[in-house]
Amino acid sequence: LKIVRPTTQRYEGKEVEKKKKREKLSALCKTPPSVVRTRTGRGYHRGLFLGEGGFARCFQMKDETGKIFAAKTVAKASIKTEKTKTKLLSEIKIHKSMNHPNIVQFIDCFEDDINVYILLEICPNQSLMDLLKARKSITEPEARFFSVQIAGAVKYLHSRRIIHRDLKLGNIFFDPDMNLKIGDFGLASSMGADTKKRYTICGTPNYIAPEVLGGKEVGHSFEVDIWAIGIMIFALLFGKPPFQNKDVQVIYERIKANDLKFPSSHQISYSAVRLIKKLLSPSPMERPSIAEILESPWFREGLFPSRITMESLRKTPKSL
Ligand code: ADP
Repeated sequence: LKIVRPTTQRYEGKEVEKKKKREKLSALCKTPPSVVRTRTGRGYHRGLFLGEGGFARCFQMKDETGKIFAAKTVAKASIKTEKTKTKLLSEIKIHKSMNHPNIVQFIDCFEDDINVYILLEICPNQSLMDLLKARKSITEPEARFFSVQIAGAVKYLHSRRIIHRDLKLGNIFFDPDMNLKIGDFGLASSMGADTKKRYTICGTPNYIAPEVLGGKEVGHSFEVDIWAIGIMIFALLFGKPPFQNKDVQVIYERIKANDLKFPSSHQISYSAVRLIKKLLSPSPMERPSIAEILESPWFREGLFPSRITMESLRKTPKSL
């Protein structure tokens, strides 16, 4: 099975391959110069290294007024083929057109001889994956709070005919006020007016929907994002994604067999289990719409925190 943007690097458990990739990426992507100047003459001062994905490295960038942004930096040396170039341009085009409180705001895009820079709103409190690593699992009210924000952003994306296709805890960041922001539009697909399905096999193993694994014959559409919401709610409540295995092929087999088990180690409400089962329906047609998700008993009946503070990043908050 060939996965676009090799998923071994995106598989959250494969540290060795990640390290190799990091070394290769570091060799390609030189640290940006201390001042990056845009064609229109604006200057940005490079700050701290923020993190890296399969494709880009991210640095803080300060503008001349002192405002801080995140710059996703892609080495030109890594954009060798037309296909890679088209994909980067597509990411920029899609992300640029987004404007929603729960989507990382695109600010600007520029280049120098070495890199292409995508300037973004900074999310200094890391991602939902970092929160889960620190907390192991989170409470249902917190998961409900986060899921509403994610669902709101996905509703917006889908209303604009965009499928994200790589929704996962590591791509959902916290802004300074602890609001969630969906980022990384590297695998997003614009459906335009056409209703045809997409056939590229892509995503991150733990989050891939079964119809994506069906490949060329089956095709996939907006419902892959709904599936990913199900995976994320499960992971937040139980501490790991439902089909987790150290062998990627086993993950795929478990996804295809809908081998869904709810560990008894966590006392999770019946309404959460029902919603997760519905979100992880093998048939895309059976999955709920965003409106149906938000109407489900899990959202309507449970505790809902008025706000989430930074305390949640480290421990179960006292006031829930
Ligand atoms: P890739 O497309 O290569 O997967 P990502 O968009 O996932 O790149 O970004 C790589 C890393 O950079 C993230 O894991 C995160 O640590 C950091 N990062 C990305 N966007 C932001 C942001 N807006 N604010 C702060 N850090 C960010």
